[in-house]
Amino acid sequence: MSYDPNNIFAKILRGDLPCTKVFEDDHTLAFMDIMPQAKGHVLVLPKLASQSLLDAEPAMFSALFATVQKLARAVKTGMEADGIVVTQFNGAAAGQTVFHLHVHIIPRWDGVALRRHSGTMEDADVLKAHAAKIVAAL
Ligand code: AMP
Repeated sequence: MSYDPNNIFAKILRGDLPCTKVFEDDHTLAFMDIMPQAKGHVLVLPKLASQSLLDAEPAMFSALFATVQKLARAVKTGMEADGIVVTQFNGAAAGQTVFHLHVHIIPRWDGVALRRHSGTMEDADVLKAHAAKIVAAL
């Protein structure tokens, strides 16, 4: 299977579909996950096209993980989280559902269970409110 330029995240990167953006630079884009596993669940994408980690260009990893670290810190502070989970799925068998490389940043609180992956759609106003807290902490 080759990279599909019409996958959902490619459309978001082109501006053809909306997202609740929290950060953008020359190489990366970060926005709220529409079906968050926890309040403040953010996705970080490289702008360079690849399906997953396995076919990605390593030269962009420093830019990608600089943004992952920046957002992990902002999500922890902005959402007052006790910890941060960083996950990344490669292939449908591993749980990947959108085939443009992305990294999940998921805040955790002591005693609060994670919601199901790709479970329930969150209200747009709730996503905006969480995004505002994260942006304020950047
Ligand atoms: P994965 O299963 O790792 O490929 O993750 C895809 C993630 O993208 C899931 O957590 C979905 O909730 C999320 N998602 C799917 N469509 C959108 C969208 N239009 N905007 C924001 N997040 C999305």
